[in-house]
Amino acid sequence: MPAELTELKVRDVTIKLHRAGRGRTVLFLHGAGGVPQWLPFFDALAEHRFLVPKCADCGDYNWVPYPACRTCLSENQVWTEVSGEATVFTYTVVHRGPGAFNADVPYVIALGKLSEQPRPCLVLGTLVGSDPAEVQVGLPIQIAYEDIPGEDITMWRWVRL
Ligand SMILES: [Zn+2]
Repeated sequence: MPAELTELKVRDVTIKLHRAGRGRTVLFLHGAGGVPQWLPFFDALAEHRFLVPKCADCGDYNWVPYPACRTCLSENQVWTEVSGEATVFTYTVVHRGPGAFNADVPYVIALGKLSEQPRPCLVLGTLVGSDPAEVQVGLPIQIAYEDIPGEDITMWRWVRL
């Protein structure tokens, strides 16, 4: 994506590049909340709660949302609030970001393993407020929320516990 591109419309979803506070860049899908099956997630996110589809048949949590449970293929899933507590499952430190993201380097993208069980549920997000040199697998982290100024959108972030 060219650095000067700040907005791209694809069907009913607008992809926006937004300069957030503290010199960070965020990319979000404006209007994704208009997709009916995602509404419970975005409504909860605006209230700073994180919902994950939980299988009503086998009890496993599934992220990212998908029409069927990844364990038993049941379509009987229920949006369920999770604690947001996790540990770093794996991560990468970005030293050369694409486009406007290059102004934010170095930054950490982490795959967090939620504390909810039985099967590990992995959520991808930016880990903020940490020295990349101190990040390691197993580090306790927590989902945090950031309301984007001037936009009706809330982003989730990883922060250290
Ligand atoms: Zn299942």
